[in-house]
Amino acid sequence: MTEIPKSHPRYASLMTRERIAEGVRNGITSIQGLIAQGRGEAFDYIIGERTMVSADRAALAAAAALLIAKRPAISVNGNVAALVPGEMVELASLLNAPLEVNLFHRSEERVRRIADLLRSHGASLVLGENPDCRIPGLEHSRALATRGGIYDADAVLIPLEDGDRCEALVGMGKTVIAVDLNPLSRTSMMASITIVDNITRAVPNLMGKIRSLSGSPAEHLQTVLRGYSNRDTLRDALLEMREYLTARMNELDGARDQPVSR
Ligand code: ATP
Ligand code: MG
Repeated sequence: MTEIPKSHPRYASLMTRERIAEGVRNGITSIQGLIAQGRGEAFDYIIGERTMVSADRAALAAAAALLIAKRPAISVNGNVAALVPGEMVELASLLNAPLEVNLFHRSEERVRRIADLLRSHGASLVLGENPDCRIPGLEHSRALATRGGIYDADAVLIPLEDGDRCEALVGMGKTVIAVDLNPLSRTSMMASITIVDNITRAVPNLMGKIRSLSGSPAEHLQTVLRGYSNRDTLRDALLEMREYLTARMNELDGARDQPVSR
């Protein structure tokens, strides 16, 4: 990996980028994953690279939905595996849920590498290497799924998912929880609960919420879910982005131009 000095003002963001590049070099992340990361980074800049209030609320609802689920499952793709492999394993163990490698640009080699990586982080159950069913409404290998995993889960966490597959999972009647930095993506709009946050912040935050809600009576979890609207939450995310942009605009109003000719 390229050495990034800790003093660099964009240290955290550049390190994340290095991890994705390393994922591509190690056969974990697809080349298209680099572009997805770039799109995410652009939205993260507009969010101010912090967890928004609306995202925190979505994370609480997501925790309640995953705790109340009878068969939760967690989808892992090449970007997620490159960025937060250990955290995904920890989350799966907290929920006692299977991890399923689920790739848009599927290759058997990449599935195996990601599954091995998750197992090297201590995962007890990793599915996806031997799919035995298909998600209805999707074509090609991106429809492949596994019984006991995503296929018959009642709640699925799908970080950085494509809109089409999100729609197909919703169509199967599941509670679909997305993590996506773009509040305007089809995935964000389609999911039951969308956490508009960077996966690197969203997963630790979600685990904190799960820990704080675990042991709560089912009625309390139901109350959290009844009070949640994904439409309102996405709207609030856009409002928070607008506020952030307005603050940056006001900074520009107070700044001086550099001379263009000397
Ligand atoms: P859609 O198909 O939902 O309309 P899309 O085609 O723009 O979305 P995809 O490539 O299908 O995007 O999915 C990747 C999504 O993941 C993008 O919306 C991107 O903003 C988001 N993303 C990328 N990196 C991260 C990250 N580190 N954390 C959270 N979200 C991310
Ligand atoms: Mg897409």
